[in-house]
Amino acid sequence: MTITYYYNSDVDNALPGREIVHPPQKQTFRAHNNACEVEIFFRDVLEHNLEDKICISSIMCVEDPHPNNKVYEGAYWLDRYQQAFFGQQFIGDNQLCSWAIAQDIVAHEFGHGLTSYTAKLAYIYESGALDESYADIFAVLIANRGQSNIQLWNWEIGMGFGINGQAIRDLSKPGRYNHPEHMNNYCQLDYNDDHGGVHSNCGIHNKAAYNLITSQDNNGNYLFTAQSVAVLFYRALVQLGENSCFSDSRRAIEQAARTLYHGDLQKISAVSSAFQSVGIQI
Ligand SMILES: [Zn+2]
Repeated sequence: MTITYYYNSDVDNALPGREIVHPPQKQTFRAHNNACEVEIFFRDVLEHNLEDKICISSIMCVEDPHPNNKVYEGAYWLDRYQQAFFGQQFIGDNQLCSWAIAQDIVAHEFGHGLTSYTAKLAYIYESGALDESYADIFAVLIANRGQSNIQLWNWEIGMGFGINGQAIRDLSKPGRYNHPEHMNNYCQLDYNDDHGGVHSNCGIHNKAAYNLITSQDNNGNYLFTAQSVAVLFYRALVQLGENSCFSDSRRAIEQAARTLYHGDLQKISAVSSAFQSVGIQI
């Protein structure tokens, strides 16, 4: 379901919005298609049971600018409505764009929908950073779904929506955006500072995920397929809980790998190395 939202002085009172059966605006149409891709991935790859409780219920775009040229910026998941909200931003040639035109951003927000329905990770400190990381991992897996060659994958999230038209995060090199890549550099931040640094510390777990997905055997062949990695992370996610931390995630992923790869030692040891190299211990 795609919902578009027209400017109102109070977003909260305007939610949950109204359904657009035939999206009338170009950006809403792209947003709708991006959300459909996420739904297909959740259903066909993760085999997430949408019948049980639908985590993709709707998507919403703010398309109309504020009368005074202000815009609702950012994108986020709203648990209480089971909705993703996508604001706008001036990007590129000063063009007002909906955040929902980016497949990875849409996938990231609905990734939060998936975590909120499964692990229900508390959105603070390390469990919050884990929540961000799982949303990023699914975003990259979904956005690169059409590219079978992992070597050609794009690991950035939100290209064009970051500072100076850059991306927002990079799973392959979190340090590019000043995010830590190792537990030694974990940012001990106050709760009032981005819920304890959830959008920076996720870099550590993201880097582990990148290491895992790009693991190669001695002949330089990738050890994992994108599909199996998606299932691996999903199986781990459903084992996590409110207070889970990075170590719990490593443990859950290793456990899932033992089952999924039938004890294949090369794969299981690659999973362990991926986490070990960023300092996430069991
Ligand atoms: Zn997020």
